Parts: sequence; structure tokens; C-alpha cells
Amino acid sequence: MSDIPAPDEQTQYSSRRHDDVDALAWPALSTHALDLLRSAGTVLHPEPGELLWDAGDPYDLYLVLAGGVLLVDRREDRVVFVIEEGDFVGELGMLMGQRAFLPGVAMAETEVLRVRVDELRRLVEVSAELSDVLLSAFDARRRLLMRMSAGGLVLAGDDDRDLHRLQEFAERNQLPYRTVLRSDASAWSDLATTTALPEAGTVVVTGERRVLPAPTTRDLATALGIDLWCLSDDARCDLLVVGAGPAGLAAAVYGASEGLDVVVVEDVAIGGQAGSSSRIENYLGFPRGVSGAELARAAMLQAVKFGTRLVSPRSVTGLSQVSGGFCVRLDDEHDILARAVVIASGVRYRRLDVAGLAEFEGRGVYYAAGELEAKVVSGRNAVVVGGANSAGQAALFLARHAGQVHVLVRRDDLRDTMSNYLAQRITHHERVTVHPRSELSAVHGTSRLSAVGWRDHVLDRDVRLDANGLFLMIGADPCTTWLHEAGVELDAKGFVVTHDGFSTSVPGVFAVGDARAGSVKRVASAVGEGSVVISAVHSYLSAPPRT
Ligand SMILES: Cc1cc2nc3c(=O)[nH]c(=O)nc-3n(C[C@H](O)[C@H](O)[C@H](O)COP(=O)(O)OP(=O)(O)OC[C@H]3O[C@@H](n4cnc5c(N)ncnc54)[C@H](O)[C@@H]3O)c2cc1C
Repeated sequence: MSDIPAPDEQTQYSSRRHDDVDALAWPALSTHALDLLRSAGTVLHPEPGELLWDAGDPYDLYLVLAGGVLLVDRREDRVVFVIEEGDFVGELGMLMGQRAFLPGVAMAETEVLRVRVDELRRLVEVSAELSDVLLSAFDARRRLLMRMSAGGLVLAGDDDRDLHRLQEFAERNQLPYRTVLRSDASAWSDLATTTALPEAGTVVVTGERRVLPAPTTRDLATALGIDLWCLSDDARCDLLVVGAGPAGLAAAVYGASEGLDVVVVEDVAIGGQAGSSSRIENYLGFPRGVSGAELARAAMLQAVKFGTRLVSPRSVTGLSQVSGGFCVRLDDEHDILARAVVIASGVRYRRLDVAGLAEFEGRGVYYAAGELEAKVVSGRNAVVVGGANSAGQAALFLARHAGQVHVLVRRDDLRDTMSNYLAQRITHHERVTVHPRSELSAVHGTSRLSAVGWRDHVLDRDVRLDANGLFLMIGADPCTTWLHEAGVELDAKGFVVTHDGFSTSVPGVFAVGDARAGSVKRVASAVGEGSVVISAVHSYLSAPPRT
């Protein structure tokens, strides 16, 4: 590789110059861990400047025995990380089959131990010590990349719905990225010096300088290599889980840790509804609450640690019985054969029938309240529609950023639909105003939402309020339309009917979490059901074949 920049004061980060917060990212390996890696690796002596892997390549773990490895942002010709002697190159995506965000280049007089990723997965499964130290390090490094907005991925364009869709995908899938807005002339022209940018529309620039004009989220995922990796060589599994919300992730963790070969297919983002929650306060063991994103990241890590294969973003579109199990069809027509299936596809938020609403989705109208959305309403008015817990949490979270939060509720009393503790907090919060018996009637704006209208039935008048954010938290419908041809019994509202715990009307197909008829719509119950269903899956798989 030519023109490799030298590490200098421009270098963002060195594996030997970290603060205590990052200590987890750069652990000292014990003699036992080193011996294990040596037993599975090959020693290499690359030339100075040699490209060990490029951005966009699948990559392996490199333990630096002498010299160093530079992680380079090729767009900006800048060294982002220096991995020094004694440290190892590796990141969370490695175990998930993702491709490298940044290329790796050898420094002078470098000696590395290369452990191929398949070998690494095997070692992580057999050695608890190596698994603990590597997974903690990989997780910490991903957080570091996110914090630094490093990783080479740039999402660029106008501040509109398309850009928001990509940002949301990156945030919810914990992909480090940087945003460059066309309206920021200096950042835009900086990016344009190394990349040919289109005149209009959204564009993704990857670490290896690939430009994707008008990309779908699938294009972005494919460019980063985060989908379909498990299907290229093996489209069979013991257990296929549909959906990676709390229920699906729990099924994956318990299934994989008990020896099943598990594939999880997720349509949108790991974590499901819970992943979009700003703070979950009633989940056991987190007295100060935990953000949905944090919980989703930890669960994903745990699932990957036990060898779960994650396929996302892909949606399951059909299920049919075949000899030896089930054929699960994906939206790109790929099929996966599974011996058993767990339906954990949850529910999806409802939309309101208000003229013009759809136009502002992602541009002021949102169905979740996370950090990204909070920035939009910073210091301004936000309107939350809904009276359930999700609306209450959103209101409290937004109140930390917004000037004032207005909650529109159809009923007279919040406590009819919201946990008492949330209703109390909302009612007494100085920056939250609850409007009982009020219904959204209008949205206004040109390119973005600028005002919201509602009918206040208590005061019997129409209200119009300047607002930058409208958050619709009005309940949800089950994601089960893909089951219509599968012969699985659904109730009148579309929820999956189960008998004897989690068995559906089709033997070998189970249902857990919010998608199941009669389920309690909570994170803890979804996790509980996802964990417990595995014993039923085991019994089914070990039963003598049916004749
Ligand atoms: C904003 C918000 C805040 C909340 N706060 C709390 C709280 O504080 N405490 C609490 O206990 N509960 C809370 N809940 C409820 C809780 O999050 C849910 O009960 C829980 O997430 C249900 O888990 P699940 O796995 O069954 O379904 P989901 O979380 O809905 O996950 C289902 C997953 O399946 C995917 N999927 C759907 N169809 C397909 C398909 N065809 N192919 C592939 N994938 C598919 C979806 O994209 C989704 O990721 C909250 C919900 C929201 C929306």
C-alpha cells in the first residue's frame, strides 16, 4: 500500500495512550490466553506499509508481537489507531461476520500472530477466560469507535427523512459513523475533496471510499458486510428465531448456550422495541434503569459469544413445512432450513390517520425517542401522543432536552393506562404538560415539522403549537402477516395462539414475547418466555421422528 501516513499528532488514538475508561478495550492477556492464541495462529513478518486487510474485507485477529499495526482512514489519509506491541487488533464485528471498518497496515519491523476468525470463534467457545477478555475488549472498542465517531463510515446529505433513516439504522445497529450535512459548507467540501459527491440526495461513503448514492438500509448493511454472512456457506440450522427483540435474543442466548445451532433473522435492528426505549426502569437488576440500546448491545454480545448467527436487516416473509423441518423464506428469496422455529417477531407501532403525517416521518415525526430525536427538540417544544408506559418514558426522556413536552392523552386520567410511578413523575415534572382528552388533528411545516394541532375536548377548542418533534406512542399491532400462509393459528387481532406454554398449532413452531396472544407486554416477560421456550424446543428436537 502506498502513501501510508505516519502516526503523528493527528493520530486519534494509540492502544498504549488510553485513559482508564478505555482500559477494558486494551487488556493485558494472561500467559494462558496467549498460549491459546499461539496454538491457533500463524506468525507473520509483513513488510513495512503492507496492507494486512482493507476496509470492507472480512478480517482476522492480529496480535502484535513486535512493531505495530496502523488503522487508517483512507478517505482522510489519517492514522486513526495505532495498535502497539502486546495489543491485538479486533472488534465486535469480527465475531459477527462484519467486514472491517478501517484498513490495517503494518509498521516497520513488525511481527504479528494472525488467528483466523473461524479459529477465534472456536477458542471463544472453548475458553471462558479468552471469551471474557476478548468480548469485553471488543465491546469496549465498539463503544470507543461510536464515541469517537470513527470507523470511516460517513452518512452525508440533507437533514431529511432519508438521512434520518440511515442514522437510525446505524445508531440502532451500533455502527460507528459520522454525519456530514450539505448545509455545512466546509465539512461538505472537505468530504468532496476525496470523494465524488452527488449534487442532491443522501449518500453513504464507506471506509474504503465506496460511494453509495441514494442507498437503502440494505445497501448500507451489505456494504458493511453485516448481513447474510451466515447464509453463504450454510443455510441450515437447528433453530431459527424470527426477530431479535428481547424475546428472540433470549431464545438465541439460551438455545446457543445449550448447544443448538441458532440463526436469528431481524428485519430492522437488534433489540426490537426495547432497543428504542430511552430508559427501562423495571427490568430486574438495573435499579437505576438501563437504556434499551445498552441492553440490546449486551444481549447481542451474549448471543454472539455462544455462536448465534445474526442476519439483519432481513425480514422473514414465509414459513412452510418440509422434510426434516421448516423452510423459512427471507425477503430476498433466500431460504433457510431449520429443524424448529421460534416466532419472536413482536409488535409494530400504529400510525395515525392525520393528513400530511407520513410526509414528516423522520423529519419531525417519530415513533421512538432516542438521542438522535432528542437533539431535534433541544430547547424547543415536543409533543408526545399516547398514554401508555412507552409514551410516559418518552416524555420524561425528552423533557431532559426539550423546552417543554406536551403529552396528548385521549382518556381523562393517565393512570388508566400508565404505571403509577410514571404517571406521578409526568404529572409533577415542571417541563411536562399533560393534556387529557386531547386528540392530534393536524401537522404543519414545509420541509420539516414546525407545528402541531390538536382538539382539546376538555376546553372544547382547537390548539396549535409550534413544535419540532411529534412522538407517536399509540400502541402497536402484531408482526405476524408473514404467517398467513403457514398454517399457524392466529387470534382475531393477529397474535399467535399458543397451547401448553409456547407451542403453536404447528408442532416445531413456537411463539414467545409480544407476538404471542395473551402475553404480558414487558421486557422481563419477553426475556423469560424466550429463555423458557428452549426446553420445549429441546424436547421437540429430541422426540422420535413423527411418522
Ligand atoms: C418506547 C418503548 C418503551 C418501552 N419500555 C418498556 C419498559 O420500560 N419496561 C418494559 O418492561 N417494557 C417496555 N416496553 C415494552 C417492551 O419493549 C416489549 O414488551 C418487548 O420489547 C417485547 O419484546 P419482543 O422480543 O417480544 O418483541 P419486539 O421487541 O417487538 O421485537 C420483535 C423484533 O422482531 C422483528 N421482526 C418483526 N417481524 C419480523 C420479520 N418478519 N422478520 C424478521 N424480523 C421481524 C422486529 O423488527 C423486532 O426487532 C417498551 C416498548 C417501547 C416501544
